[in-house]
Amino acid sequence: MKLKLIQTGDPVLRQRGRELTREEILSGSIQNLIESMRETMREAPGVGLAAPQIGESLQLAVIEDPSEFISHLPEEEVVARERSPVDFHVIINPKLSVVGESSAEFFEGCLSVEGFQAVVRRALEVHVECLNERAEPITINARGWYARILQHEIDHLDGHLYIDRMNTRTFTTNENLVQFWKTAQEMESS
Ligand code: ZN
Repeated sequence: MKLKLIQTGDPVLRQRGRELTREEILSGSIQNLIESMRETMREAPGVGLAAPQIGESLQLAVIEDPSEFISHLPEEEVVARERSPVDFHVIINPKLSVVGESSAEFFEGCLSVEGFQAVVRRALEVHVECLNERAEPITINARGWYARILQHEIDHLDGHLYIDRMNTRTFTTNENLVQFWKTAQEMESS
């Protein structure tokens, strides 16, 4: 089932989601929610979707950066962003830590701030401890674009949006991004 995407201004996007227990994760309702979030993300299309974006204040997000999204991008853009395909997966109750001091600035967008993008500085490398959809503990070490997606999604679970972190003078509509900014190629939102 495709779910409605909540837009900025709704308080649910500004609350910290609550953690899920092992029993809840394995329950039919959360399993169904995960399936609906996967469908909603794919249809958007997006590379990530956090539960607060569909009105559920929970520590749960889905992520997927399929090769079809990357194959149509110019190679220099893929290289600059260190972007490579990420298989569909679920993060629950994540704890993120930044690795090293390196960061990068790129335009990013959000399915909950539809139609806009801005430059956001993000850490280049992160470490995430979380549970998967089977309530098993997993460890993720990510770099580049995948690290950016994780930071963006985990921000959602804590009630933060990219507009809290953006370089405000770069905030632009998608149309004007293509018209006025040389990076032109629009990224998928999350
Ligand atoms: Zn978002």
